[in-house]
Amino acid sequence: MPEQSILRINEIFWSFQGEGLRAGVPSIFLRLAGCQLKCPYCDTKYAWDSGRWLPLPEILDEIDKQKRKYPASQVVITGGEPMEQDLTELVDNLKKKDFFIAIETNGVEYAALAIDWWTVSPKDVMGYAVNKALKKRIDEIKLIVNENLSVEVIKKIRDIGDYFPIFLQPDSNDNHKYENTFYLFEQCQLAGISDVRPGIQLHKVYSVM
Ligand code: SF4
Repeated sequence: MPEQSILRINEIFWSFQGEGLRAGVPSIFLRLAGCQLKCPYCDTKYAWDSGRWLPLPEILDEIDKQKRKYPASQVVITGGEPMEQDLTELVDNLKKKDFFIAIETNGVEYAALAIDWWTVSPKDVMGYAVNKALKKRIDEIKLIVNENLSVEVIKKIRDIGDYFPIFLQPDSNDNHKYENTFYLFEQCQLAGISDVRPGIQLHKVYSVM
């Protein structure tokens, strides 16, 4: 059984944030391995099972290395599903280094971490459930557009509160992703649901990671 200060990491790399309200922000990505949901459309299936257990000092060294090269970067903790591991010590150490810290999560698990930005992407396989304690901290919602995402589902998510945008995220496996996303966006406008936006995938546009 690994100690808490050891995390299963899939990859650490620099790029820009490709989606959501903070798209374009230079970022050091820390991709944690593992996710129990196993969504069929997942675009990071490679992170489900492959990963190395790394002690925290090694992880921080690698992040420092990236930071020396790209000083204006935030840290994005992603996955897989990062909240399936205990991130407390990692986050405390990154905070001491003055990073802006963002997490991307499916919203099932929650821990009161001292981070700056919660991107929550509720999933159809969980009935779009969001952890009750996490609801108050949502900064943005991302929803994959597929046959299960309806105006009714989006309305229910808007009922959580009006303090965050809801991005409709095109499914990269769908040949009609932009038409389908725009159609749903228009339906939300007609239904009067506030602050629903068509999402972007800047990484795909630029053909980078
Ligand atoms: S929750 Fe996210 S990381 Fe997990 S399987 Fe679904 S899409 Fe992939």
